[in-house]
Amino acid sequence: MSGYKKLRNNLYSADLLYGKFDLKCGHTFSCYFIVQHTDDLEFIEKQALQLLLAGCQSFIFFGAKASAWRQTIAWKDRVLRSIPASEPAVFTSEYAELDAFSAALFRDISIRSFIPHDVYLLYDDETIYEEVIKHLEIFQDSLFRRTDGKSLEELIRVPRVKCPRCGSMDTARIIRGWSSVDNTLREAADTGIIHLGVRREQKDAAKRYCNSCRKKFGAPAQIIIGQTVIAAVNDVIGIEYSRVAFTLLQLPPKITIIKSEHGAVVKARGWGKTDNLPFEREYTIAKRRWDSLVTALFDDLYLNDWEPHYEDPDVCDGEAWHLKVQFSKQKEREYSGLNQFPPYWNEFQQLLEPFIIP
Ligand SMILES: [Zn+2]
Repeated sequence: MSGYKKLRNNLYSADLLYGKFDLKCGHTFSCYFIVQHTDDLEFIEKQALQLLLAGCQSFIFFGAKASAWRQTIAWKDRVLRSIPASEPAVFTSEYAELDAFSAALFRDISIRSFIPHDVYLLYDDETIYEEVIKHLEIFQDSLFRRTDGKSLEELIRVPRVKCPRCGSMDTARIIRGWSSVDNTLREAADTGIIHLGVRREQKDAAKRYCNSCRKKFGAPAQIIIGQTVIAAVNDVIGIEYSRVAFTLLQLPPKITIIKSEHGAVVKARGWGKTDNLPFEREYTIAKRRWDSLVTALFDDLYLNDWEPHYEDPDVCDGEAWHLKVQFSKQKEREYSGLNQFPPYWNEFQQLLEPFIIP
């Protein structure tokens, strides 16, 4: 195509009066028109015919002459296709507000479709055109603000996190908002470094996506009591963990940590690491330590995404484990396993060990 200025990956602009409509592109395309002055019917018809013959599928208008343009396009389309007047073959639309027109344009250039799709912004008014470009930049900025103020380069550098469901390291951070405008963002999504979420998902939705098991994870833990949603992390009042090795006759190690007014009370039972003698102890920990334990369980170990039960049926002996998280208001969640462990098992052991052997 000639006489066009490339603005972005899939967005081109052209001054209506100077643009040459010799369209020879292999992509599908849409045209956004800013028509404020041009109402010469002959001129409009000529443009309409060329765009329709080139295969343009949607025509979106803004400006004082929008209606005249829209009607002419629709009429030319019907004539060309010889189809009944009630069935338009192309999509036409008209916006009264510049904001809405710009937003529609931004969505269009942001959609990732399987077939490459180009968008043309045709204008006959320089001032309005500059306004639209400014709007696109604002939308672009807000897209990046939704990614916690991190630049794309920073996002890509975020280390990959192990999937709590299948243990794969091939996971991606979910970015919500209009999918992709920027080439880098698109490439990052294509390579699985980031995962593009849909805009209507709430901000409390999952934060990560596993490219291996194709499941999302990392949504904040919540408990719903009636209509009230409570962050589970603030509502945990107790943790109880025990494991039983069937071949040992020893008393199985067990630890309970119960939240108290100023921190938590720890009761631990086990076998000394060096002397191998049984011990039982009770002590208190500060609030800070309790808080960081609970936060680590949910934020770093993704407890919310663990299965309720893990089991390997092919092992006869072995060991069983049990974890109970007690919430206020009589709520609790239990996790257990028989010879099988969740992907974050080692991290879980490392987290609890200092409490068992202080
Ligand atoms: Zn996975």
